[in-house]
Amino acid sequence: MAIVTRFAPSPTGMLHVGGVRTALFSWLYARRMGGKFILRIEDTDRERSTDEAVRVILDGMKWCDLQADEGPYYQTQRFDRYKEVIRGMLDDGTAYHCYCTKQELDAMREQQIARKEKPRYTGICRDRTTPRDGVAPVVRFRNPTDGAVIVEDLVHGAVTFQNTELDDLIIARSDGTPTYNFCVVVDDMDMNVTHVIRGDDHLNNTPRQMNMLLALGAKPPVYAHVPMILGPDGAKLSKRHGAVSVLQYQEEGFLPDALLNYLVRLGWSHGDQEIFSREEMISAFDIHDVNKAASAFNPEKLLWLNQQHMMRAAPAALVPHLQFQLARLGLDSDNQALLEGVIVAQRERAKTLKEMAQNSRFFFTDQLEMDPKAVAKHLTPAAMPLLQQVRERLAALTEWTATTVHTALNDLATQLQAGLGKIAQPLRVAVAGSAVSPPIDATLALLGRDRTLARIDAALKQ
Ligand code: GLU
Repeated sequence: MAIVTRFAPSPTGMLHVGGVRTALFSWLYARRMGGKFILRIEDTDRERSTDEAVRVILDGMKWCDLQADEGPYYQTQRFDRYKEVIRGMLDDGTAYHCYCTKQELDAMREQQIARKEKPRYTGICRDRTTPRDGVAPVVRFRNPTDGAVIVEDLVHGAVTFQNTELDDLIIARSDGTPTYNFCVVVDDMDMNVTHVIRGDDHLNNTPRQMNMLLALGAKPPVYAHVPMILGPDGAKLSKRHGAVSVLQYQEEGFLPDALLNYLVRLGWSHGDQEIFSREEMISAFDIHDVNKAASAFNPEKLLWLNQQHMMRAAPAALVPHLQFQLARLGLDSDNQALLEGVIVAQRERAKTLKEMAQNSRFFFTDQLEMDPKAVAKHLTPAAMPLLQQVRERLAALTEWTATTVHTALNDLATQLQAGLGKIAQPLRVAVAGSAVSPPIDATLALLGRDRTLARIDAALKQ
């Protein structure tokens, strides 16, 4: 049987890491099983859905490179189909018109609460055969009244719901629009979804959805309800914890592979392996191994993983990410050799691409921002003669590489009986504008002779 999974976000809030992890599990399982992954936008709630949220879903999925084999489908484009299914259900009696008014339903509810019963629709319109004047009916699903639904959940195990606990769900409102739980059912059926992987906040919807699928003659899919992600303090993940739009992680300089690696390990493990490439995730992942305990989001660990992925990636693969961050700083470069060289020189000392770009501005602009403290400390009048000598040594080099630069600076230090640091710091401030840069030889090699000498000259003239 071909595996079909889907990610079905509602565009009512920004796609955040919780949603991305659900998408990732669905995507991974489809990839692992050689199946199909569908993207479906559940935009039936027109008042709460926004175009911006749809855009974040599409851009976020693209940035994460979680490619869908089918879709995006939009539920708002499938209303004719839902209505057709509702007509069929009314015809075969698995659904019925309900003419109860809001006042009647409220009264029913109050009486039940007064009797300390669970409020539910009692089913008075189930056997009604005639319309009621002046009342536009809703359509309700005729839920079985006895027996139980057992959800054989891959994460939670068997969960039993008594049908007496499930009342007759409204599947179409009085204006004819279909309701959310019903659309999900029709879509999962029409799209031949075999595995529904979603947040466990949906577990309570599942028995109703299964009953509707059975009433429609469809085989319910296999369900896997994955636990929520909590904040580091154990509370539900919120904006404060990083439940921000997934695109903010791009802006903050994370690699999509690092974010996915971080998310896959929340609730799933494979021995004690921490770092996974995409390919490794695909070959090791199994939805059956996801555990049901909620896991806490740990920003420190994400940062650590990001750096690990930066260290392991081919420099060329990081170039577009660095370019993206440079562009945010108003800098642009398509000097591939420089970009790759900066990545190699800087990746040990930055946890994000954003940090790397900030620390690397001086490679990409000649408008140096001079750190006044570093200038006051290292570009002192006393340091100028030294800097002058450094300039002469460097200018005399016939070949300009990290090695020749290193040798020249070392020789000068030996000759002056000074530590290399004494020479390197004024030089560093002169070329980088601050007292922090990669090793000075690598820094100069990347800057090249002309830019290095010009910057030293500018410092000497100060
Ligand atoms: N649209 C639902 C949500 O965003 C998911 C429903 C489902 O996966 O069945 O929470």
